[in-house]
Amino acid sequence: MSQQFDLVVIGGGPGGYEAAIRAAQLGYKVACIEKRLLNGKPSMGGTCLNVGCIPSKALLDSSHKYEATQHELEDHGITTGEVTLDLQKLLARKDKVVQQLTGGVAQLLKGNNIEWLQGTGKLLAGKQVEFVPHEGEKQILAPKYVILASGSVPVNIPVAPVDQDVIVDSTGALSFNEVPKRLGVIGAGVIGLELGSVWRRLGSEVVVFEALDSFLPMADKALSKEFHKILKKQGLEIRIGAKVAATEVNGQEVTVKYTQDGEEKTQVFDKLIVCVGRKAYAEGLLAEDAGIKLTERGLVEVNDQCATSVEGVYAIGDLVRGPMLAHKAMEEGVMAVERIHGHAAQVNYDTIISVIYTHPEAAWVGLTEEAAKEQGFDVKAGQFPFAVNGRALAAGETAGFVKFVADNKTDRLLGMHVVGPSASDIVHQGMIALEFVSSVEDLQLMTFGHPTFSEVVHEAALSVDGRAIHAVQRKRK
Ligand code: FAD
Ligand code: NAD
Repeated sequence: MSQQFDLVVIGGGPGGYEAAIRAAQLGYKVACIEKRLLNGKPSMGGTCLNVGCIPSKALLDSSHKYEATQHELEDHGITTGEVTLDLQKLLARKDKVVQQLTGGVAQLLKGNNIEWLQGTGKLLAGKQVEFVPHEGEKQILAPKYVILASGSVPVNIPVAPVDQDVIVDSTGALSFNEVPKRLGVIGAGVIGLELGSVWRRLGSEVVVFEALDSFLPMADKALSKEFHKILKKQGLEIRIGAKVAATEVNGQEVTVKYTQDGEEKTQVFDKLIVCVGRKAYAEGLLAEDAGIKLTERGLVEVNDQCATSVEGVYAIGDLVRGPMLAHKAMEEGVMAVERIHGHAAQVNYDTIISVIYTHPEAAWVGLTEEAAKEQGFDVKAGQFPFAVNGRALAAGETAGFVKFVADNKTDRLLGMHVVGPSASDIVHQGMIALEFVSSVEDLQLMTFGHPTFSEVVHEAALSVDGRAIHAVQRKRK
């Protein structure tokens, strides 16, 4: 006997499970189909909790502590004995964090009376859903609403086929058994910089190959320049304009052949991470007659409210247009459910933050100076360094700056760009300001606590009009 659900969500990542919980809160009878197995056991939470945001941040935090203990304590007058690394313990801690969170999500679903259907879901014609459990009989469900939230998978490139041994993707790079002496990374994007930093801090010599001729082209130019400089100083070797032409695995080594500045070169590594982007994952998700339109890039086509071409079917997260970010997926999941319920919810795509969780972190929201100019704004901008901030000096966290981009005609804030301590949190001040359509003056008139990193936000807003206090400003208003 097949069960009756108001809503079936296919995919239990951050987009899918948050949608399921919000729907249950609103009184819907909800099932969430999730097929993922982690160490042979069904696991909730999607890419984000299992092999993405959470394990990578656990590694980033542990490896930062390792590096800081070795190199940053002496300045504070603290002498340590020999600092040693127990990689297995570090990895086990990461796995425990993942287990805690994935288990927590499963508990949340249970607590909200959401049925976790463990297996594979497929959308059929007429909004029906086929559910094939890991064990047991196939079922056909006929819910009123469906949310597709099947996420994404890494992009593969033929020149570097992933074997999860010597050549790995981001998942393999979360669990190396020992610290590779020589680590190659293809792609200087978010994953390359984060996981490259993890293994560099743990002792690898890291070389990152980036095919494009510029570093982080989507970021504000001032930010990418400063950030590149900082990472380079830390010892992360980023080769811009380096195109990998071939790789050859010999036992436990891989030879990378690449071209840079017109020259053909080779380099040998113990491990190679391929992280050149992710693509929407819709394999086996849609029957041919399900009626769902896809874009040329294989994304599910949706409108601004995540409605697909089939009434009552929504699609969210990495499966649809926009940045592949957990927080974007979460808010889309909640928006889709609110829409189903008749509420006028809308994700503000202009205020979705981007963060790179290195140390220091880089984070931004809104328009870059370059994009604002391209869009025809009469741009004014100002930035302020952490180097002269009292709290940053006290903490020894002086690299980086906060920059604001604004409209000179209206004083409206257009974007905020941060490299520096706690950038991932500081950038939320810009996000809230943009959400409330703040002017630069609004920020200038606020009283920021002293001594805090956030005072740099205040000074950066003041510097837009040449009014920063702790710098000699040439242009004054
Ligand atoms: P997913 O999290 O991919 O979840 C989809 C789920 O659907 C999967 O568990 C899959 O098993 C399941 N599924 C697929 N098809 C079916 C089917 N037919 N039947 C049943 N189940 C199915 N984002 C951030 O915002 N911050 C970060 O710090 C960050 N770090 C990252 C680090 C790494 C290494 C990686 C790889 C990604 C990171 N991301 C980060 C991106 C983030 O993980 C994704 O944007 C987010 O997980 C997308 O959520 P989603 O719900 O759309 O899909
Ligand atoms: P990415 O799009 O961030 O970066 C990929 C990089 O690889 C780009 O710079 C691209 O120019 C380069 N590249 C592409 N093909 C190449 C080739 N053949 N040779 C050399 N370089 C090549 O992708 P990613 O780092 O794989 O991350 C995937 C997604 O996961 C991102 O879109 C991101 O949104 C998400 N993610 C987010 C976070 C975070 O929010 N902190 C962390 C990790 C991942």
